[in-house]
Amino acid sequence: MTAYRRTARAFVLGAGGFAAAGLYSTTAGPWYAVPGLYAAAFCAWCSARYYTAHHRAVAESQWEERHVLGRDPAPLNPCCMLARHSDGAAHDRRKCTDLFHRITSDLAADPRSST
Ligand SMILES: [Zn+2]
Repeated sequence: MTAYRRTARAFVLGAGGFAAAGLYSTTAGPWYAVPGLYAAAFCAWCSARYYTAHHRAVAESQWEERHVLGRDPAPLNPCCMLARHSDGAAHDRRKCTDLFHRITSDLAADPRSST
């Protein structure tokens, strides 16, 4: 279990609690449910993001394991999270699952090799 998964489960618990509190507060008035349901929706969104991060971490771990064992795995899509957030302009030289990008990002990071 990764830390992402633990956090995602905590957010699921929080979302459930906020939803229950929001629904219970409707006994006083229907508009009192809005803050609770808003917090529940926010916790559900955070939980989904953390579950996505967990699945990515597991996929990267499995990719790295296959790479170390010499099975020549196909790169993940996106190849690394840095490429995703930079629209492919930059790559993480340690965690990129595309080996060509690892090599080229090493060349770009080392100023002596560019000349
Ligand atoms: Zn990459």
